[in-house]
Amino acid sequence: MRLLFLLCVLALGGGSLTGCEDTPPPVKNTPADTPVATKPARQVPEFNGDTAYAFVQKQLSFGPRVPMTPGHARCADWLVSKFRQYGLETQVQQARIQDHRDRPLELRNIIASYNPRATFRVMLSAHWDTRPVADADTKRQGEPIPGANDGASGVAVLLEIARVIQGSELPIGVDFMLWDAEDGGESQNDNSWCHGSRYWARNRHKPGYSPAWAINLDMVGAKDATFLQEGFSRQSAPQLVKRIWQNAASLGYGSYFLFANYPPILDDHAVVGNILGIAYVDIIHLNLQDEAKTFFEHWHTHGDDIQTIDPRTLKAVGHTVLYTLFQEPV
Ligand SMILES: [Zn+2]
Repeated sequence: MRLLFLLCVLALGGGSLTGCEDTPPPVKNTPADTPVATKPARQVPEFNGDTAYAFVQKQLSFGPRVPMTPGHARCADWLVSKFRQYGLETQVQQARIQDHRDRPLELRNIIASYNPRATFRVMLSAHWDTRPVADADTKRQGEPIPGANDGASGVAVLLEIARVIQGSELPIGVDFMLWDAEDGGESQNDNSWCHGSRYWARNRHKPGYSPAWAINLDMVGAKDATFLQEGFSRQSAPQLVKRIWQNAASLGYGSYFLFANYPPILDDHAVVGNILGIAYVDIIHLNLQDEAKTFFEHWHTHGDDIQTIDPRTLKAVGHTVLYTLFQEPV
């Protein structure tokens, strides 16, 4: 994903973002106008940060998850087997497309549904592919990165949520979407990112499917991560943004979820949200202090390995998202 700062008028997938920021990041806002978190009516199951950490390790064991490589295929099979183990109705949306350079690209979006017959549905997503190059590194720039934080962390949090809601009293439907081919983009080409989610938005797994709201997780595992309120999220889902950040504060995760605005980021939520017009929030590591560095320290380098990951961060995000799920119906 990349920063859309000052570039946000560029067309995204056929539409265009409106109301973009034109001021530099970040801008502190205030929780004063944020409603107090409502307590879920049902018991929220415990999110285990160590289990989520182990899910990151397992993904790394397959090597880089670059589309059309053996490690990618093996990881896909494992992800499908985990969702099925947790009782979810799971399918793989497989497609052969032409990428932004007219090269053939085979992608696999993994879709797993909890409570598939419920009519009220929400969507939780993360990209599961990893970047094929380490272009932000000083060495071995042409080689793929491990993608512990950028890729595996979001998937790990979703897997742990899927694990702990089995057998719970959560009455709503939850669709877990693992987007493929998000991270092979080029800085000057907006259409080079997010191939999997863009394909799905134009070829939904169920005709007319539209969740009440959606949350995307990206880079949610680094030690002392900070999650700022990103521009497209605030635009498409202002109430949900407030609710998530207020929930995090009430659960004791205020040091991660900062009440500060950030300009729009081109990520799966923006691509899908722009095509389908759904309320879609990105929980993504953004830097408040260092304006020169948008994301976490080891972004798109070989340093994005297991050392980057802190189970406490995974828990902060997972617990907050679980709590938000269990607030429904609000
Ligand atoms: Zn990336």
